[in-house]
Amino acid sequence: MALKLEPGTRLVLATHNPGKARELAEILDNRFEVVTAGALGLAEPDETESTFVGNALLKARTAAEASGLVALADDSGISVRALDGQPGIYSARWAGPGKDFTVAMRKVEERLEEAQTDDLFAWFTCALAVAWPGGPAVVVEGRVDGTLTFPARGDRGFGYDPIFVPEGHTETFGEMDPAAKDRMSHRFRAFEKLKAALL
Ligand code: IMP
Repeated sequence: MALKLEPGTRLVLATHNPGKARELAEILDNRFEVVTAGALGLAEPDETESTFVGNALLKARTAAEASGLVALADDSGISVRALDGQPGIYSARWAGPGKDFTVAMRKVEERLEEAQTDDLFAWFTCALAVAWPGGPAVVVEGRVDGTLTFPARGDRGFGYDPIFVPEGHTETFGEMDPAAKDRMSHRFRAFEKLKAALL
């Protein structure tokens, strides 16, 4: 069976994060009729897998089964080379139950101080999975490399954006025009691969 997503397909976005829902909807370019898992009242599954790809597939499959619609899910996070790739798939969890990314960014800074390193190389990863109810699934991964900077700068993004300067730039993702971020982000790069596979 050819896996193709026809324009106009009703898609459920399996995210409860408004920042990510906005970015995904923009990247999708109004090609689809989009409804969010939050709006449908779907429960968020626990992210029990050990990779971005595994968690994206888990979220897409869960949303597809619960809604009966084709589901798109992402799993993403920031990995720091000097911290052996942490926080990685635990990026959201480092912010604690209050989802406070000031706390998470401080934790990254403290861990780097403890490691006594000046290696600030980091990257964002995004896995995107599309699942059909009762059927197959497709998953891809995109990545953007960069350098961490402290103190945090900018309030235009979300999550770890204020401490991440993408390669070849001087502004953090938190300072940058959101449209510029959307054109170079890990999510955009993953979506380019997804488009090549499905559209
Ligand atoms: P999850 O994919 O919902 O498990 O959460 C991923 C977490 O990684 C988010 O809550 C953010 O903290 C972080 N993250 C993912 N993508 C970005 C981004 O584009 N900018 C900043 N932080 C991000």
